[in-house]
Amino acid sequence: MAVLEIITAPHPVLERPARPVEPDEFGPELAKRVSDMAETMYAAPGVGLAAPQVSDPRRIVVLDPGEPEDRGRRFFALINPKIISRSERMIPWLETCLSVPEFEIEIQRHYQVQLEWQDVADGSTRTGWFEEFEAVIVQHEIDHLQGTILLDRSSRFKRNRYLKKVSKAKKKDQVIA
Ligand SMILES: [Zn+2]
Repeated sequence: MAVLEIITAPHPVLERPARPVEPDEFGPELAKRVSDMAETMYAAPGVGLAAPQVSDPRRIVVLDPGEPEDRGRRFFALINPKIISRSERMIPWLETCLSVPEFEIEIQRHYQVQLEWQDVADGSTRTGWFEEFEAVIVQHEIDHLQGTILLDRSSRFKRNRYLKKVSKAKKKDQVIA
């Protein structure tokens, strides 16, 4: 297993829609990608990670909303996930993102979502309902697969202010290095 580099905004790979994992891509390599993504998520630490965040343009998501002591009990590896049903009930959630450090924004999310995905081991189709915090994570990660990040859901003012701050910080790094 390996901890992968997490890409931060602004970056083109975060803005492009991900492509499906093809049937012939299931196997040891995909399993390794998933376990590396899980290790990267736990190391961050985070509760979810989408493949574009580690420069992989495919529809792969890992999530684990559990506290550190519960790790693995609610771990999911979602290949080609797709939301097939949503509750009408919405909840506001203050979200952060590993790819948008030091940024938070409240977003209205569906309280429940039903997801269809493929199992990493054999490609078989699974479905399941996710609720509250888990549903928020699922919707956040599916956003990543569409090329949407928290900055895209914020006001233009807040987004520009953040990008200005990041570009200033990057320039400063160059001077020091
Ligand atoms: Zn994110």
